Amino acid sequence: MAERRHFIIHPDRLSGDRFVLNGEEGHHASRVTRIRIGDEITLLDTAGPAYAGVVEQVSGDRIEGCVVEKINDYHEPSVSIHLGIGLLKGSKLDTVVEKCTELGVSSITVLTLENSVKRNANLERLERLSLSAMKQCGRGLMPEVSDSDLSRWIDRSAEGEKFVLDGSSESEPLVSHLACVESCIQIRLAVGPEGGFSPDERASLRAAGFRRASIGPRRLRAETAAITSVAVAEQMAERNNWGE
Ligand code: SAH
Repeated sequence: MAERRHFIIHPDRLSGDRFVLNGEEGHHASRVTRIRIGDEITLLDTAGPAYAGVVEQVSGDRIEGCVVEKINDYHEPSVSIHLGIGLLKGSKLDTVVEKCTELGVSSITVLTLENSVKRNANLERLERLSLSAMKQCGRGLMPEVSDSDLSRWIDRSAEGEKFVLDGSSESEPLVSHLACVESCIQIRLAVGPEGGFSPDERASLRAAGFRRASIGPRRLRAETAAITSVAVAEQMAERNNWGE
């Protein structure tokens, strides 16, 4: 499919082979992007697929047209990548959510950990950032953004290849672990907060099958570790075609 402009559409606004863009997205499409009759656009309902559409009518902030193709799992990796990360200071989580969304993460869970800063994540803000990043980069799925304590997240992580990111000398490189994987549909990555995981948290992760994985001998900022580990997992999935 040729390079097209992406817009978010509510599933109610798609019916059969017709679409209607209105509200904020309609406004953006007609006033900012200056969509015209005959233009080809891509509509994203945030659940995975994309709909290629052709514009047939523009009236004010309302754009109507027909859907010519549905593309499932639009620009999605062949595996689901789930990131669990401790709450970080300032706007660092914003960076993690934006960049990991671009890199194809399926879910980001903000974990309450012993060494995390003591406040709640602003999930609404993080969801807005994730939506805007998915639209900008052109992928079909909006990652799920939520928070949890560590044990609940571990309980939900029964499936898949699981890693706790750890720069110590006992860790194998993440890329070496993944090079040995023959098939997989889910990868789970646990990244600590600025102060790292506590010994108890490390023990719970290890007991639940999370293997220590490193991305080099340097002590990385948590946000660097998160973004890099998602990128490595996505690239290995691309290369090995897991889940195909
Ligand atoms: N003082 C802390 C450092 C925390 S850095 C400690 O010793 O654990 C924040 C998080 O980033 C870590 O918990 C780890 O998950 C990840 N991280 C940092 N450097 C890394 C590296 N080289 N490889 C893999 N993960 C790393």
